[in-house]
Amino acid sequence: MGKILLHCCCGPCAMYPLDLLVSKDYDLDCFWYNPNIQPQFEFDRRHENLQKACDHFGIKLISVGTECMQDYWLSKEYLEQYGSRCEMCYDIRMDSVAKFASENGYDSFCTTLLVSPYQQHDKIAEISDMKASKYGVDFDYMDFRPGFRQGQDMAREIGLYRQKYCGCIFSLEESKFRDKIYKSFEDGSLASTRTE
Ligand code: SF4
Repeated sequence: MGKILLHCCCGPCAMYPLDLLVSKDYDLDCFWYNPNIQPQFEFDRRHENLQKACDHFGIKLISVGTECMQDYWLSKEYLEQYGSRCEMCYDIRMDSVAKFASENGYDSFCTTLLVSPYQQHDKIAEISDMKASKYGVDFDYMDFRPGFRQGQDMAREIGLYRQKYCGCIFSLEESKFRDKIYKSFEDGSLASTRTE
C-alpha cells in the first residue's frame, strides 16, 4: 500500500477520510497547504482545528505556508493563466502536496477535498492526475463523498469549528452567512476587502 500524504483542507473535511484510512491501517501523514483560506484569522482558526482532528487520530500534520494569500486572490492576476479562481485554487494546492510527497519519500497523495459534495470533484481529480505525472508520484484517487455527513457529525462530536464558507474572500462575501462570519472574527475591525 505504501505511505500516503493526505492533503487536508480543514478539520471537519478530514474527519471521515482519516477515520476510513486509519481503520484500514493506511500509513499516512496529513498535509496543510491552504493559502485560499482568508482572511488570516480564519486561516489560523481552520489550521488549529485541523491540528485537533489530527491529534484525535494520532496522525502527524505537516504544515507548509503560514499565511493566507488574500491579496493574490484579489489581484485576479491568475486569470491570465487559469480559467477560474477555483481552478487556480485546486492547482496550487495539488501542486504543493504532489511536490512534497515526491520529494519526501511518499508513494502517493490524496486530498480531503474529495469528501465535499460542494467542490468540483472531477476537476480536482483531473488536476491531481496531472500533478502526479509532473512529479512522478501516484495520485491515490478516493471518492470520500458518501461519508461527508458522517464526517461532519464526527466533527461536531469532538467540538471542531465548522465553517460556513468555502475559504477565499470571494466565497466569504458570497456567503448568506457573511455578516455572522464577520462578527465571529475576534478582530471586529476586519472588514470586507473585496475590491470588485
Ligand atoms: S470558492 Fe473555494 S475552491 Fe474556489 S477559489 Fe474560493 S476557496 Fe478556492
